[in-house]
Amino acid sequence: MVELTVLGNYGPYATAQGACSGYVINTDGFQIMLDCGHGVFSKLQKYADYTTLGILVITHLHPDHYGDIYCLRQALKYQMREGTRKDPLFVYMPEGPHPLVEEMKQWDDVFTVVSLEEAQKALNDFSRFQLKFFKVQHQIPAYGVQFQVNGEPLLTYTGDTGWFPQLEEYCRGSRYLLAEASLREYEAAERGMYHMTARQAGQLAQNSGTEYLILTHFFPENNLHQQQREAEQSFDGKIYMSGSGKKYILQP
Ligand SMILES: [Zn+2]
Repeated sequence: MVELTVLGNYGPYATAQGACSGYVINTDGFQIMLDCGHGVFSKLQKYADYTTLGILVITHLHPDHYGDIYCLRQALKYQMREGTRKDPLFVYMPEGPHPLVEEMKQWDDVFTVVSLEEAQKALNDFSRFQLKFFKVQHQIPAYGVQFQVNGEPLLTYTGDTGWFPQLEEYCRGSRYLLAEASLREYEAAERGMYHMTARQAGQLAQNSGTEYLILTHFFPENNLHQQQREAEQSFDGKIYMSGSGKKYILQP
């Protein structure tokens, strides 16, 4: 069984009870965490099991996607000292901004850093599942990730990105699409290079043949009912509004 748990769904800051970007894919007990933004470590303890994390993917090094890695580091360090965890956590992240990556590479007692620039060159096959990374359009090096089972796309996560034509190719055939919807319509002209509106996320889902669209990365001041309506105007399939603690069973 493959289950997606939303830990946090806000950016660039969270609501009082919420958290920034963080998701866990659990595939028969193996946990892949996608992003670890502000407030996510607290939710990780509540809704998943941080002690058995297998892989962490940081899509890009903006704080709303990596900020709580500092908490995770301390928690893993404690575990390893106590002997309840043996192996470092594999952390996939972009090679820049350089000083941040260098800092994290120094924590090699708890993290094994893997370059997304390298990992994106081929399908990353873990036999039970595969991870495919693709470069997206953001202010700094940023990636999306597709989770596949038997080479079939099941879930694609856009990370933070503006819409660009190739994005549809990267998401094509994915049954579930976890897509960012940061912007309000009137913001698209000015900021659409680096983020999408809900309407664009809906269009992306429609054009790439997705069945289920999960919207995420909300600006806390946005009206989510309105965003859902905007996405519905461009997508015929089922739309879910992500929320901290929400779980989705991903049917292949
Ligand atoms: Zn973000």
